[in-house]
Amino acid sequence: MENFSDFYCMRCGAQSVLLENHKALRCSACGFTYFHNVATAVGAIIVCGDEVLLLERGKEPGKGQLGLPGGFVDPFESAEQALIREISEETGIRVTQPLNYVGAWANQYPYGGVLYHTQDVYFEVALASKPSLTLQVAEVRAAHWVAREQIDLNQLAFCSARDALQHWLAG
Ligand SMILES: [Zn+2]
Repeated sequence: MENFSDFYCMRCGAQSVLLENHKALRCSACGFTYFHNVATAVGAIIVCGDEVLLLERGKEPGKGQLGLPGGFVDPFESAEQALIREISEETGIRVTQPLNYVGAWANQYPYGGVLYHTQDVYFEVALASKPSLTLQVAEVRAAHWVAREQIDLNQLAFCSARDALQHWLAG
């Protein structure tokens, strides 16, 4: 996955791009270096009573597997702003409650032949009642409220979501 040998340099066009130290894409022809830095992503453990909202993923990676609402942080956004935006886009829920920090875990996100390393920051959102959901069709196939003792961590697409839920369930 981390083979960039068939990539062309975005500055000089030579097919001589190498990945150094998992993060620097360096062209051996012209010396141009692009840093493939760790991207920040966010995820939400949305809780209502005894149940957690899990989403069935509608696209790769992890299509058909379960995930938590969330996504990549956009430029100029805080993690909290990104999470509120992603929750709204994916589920239609408009979060006004405080976000409770759960923790952050490293993750890998393969997309379009490129492996992205991410730092996934998780927050808990406690809802007093279950809102009606408007799912983002392209990204989310279905949504399930799952009782905490029924959560099967093996059904989750990403290891960071498993880590976050495991940490949250133990807490
Ligand atoms: Zn070059």
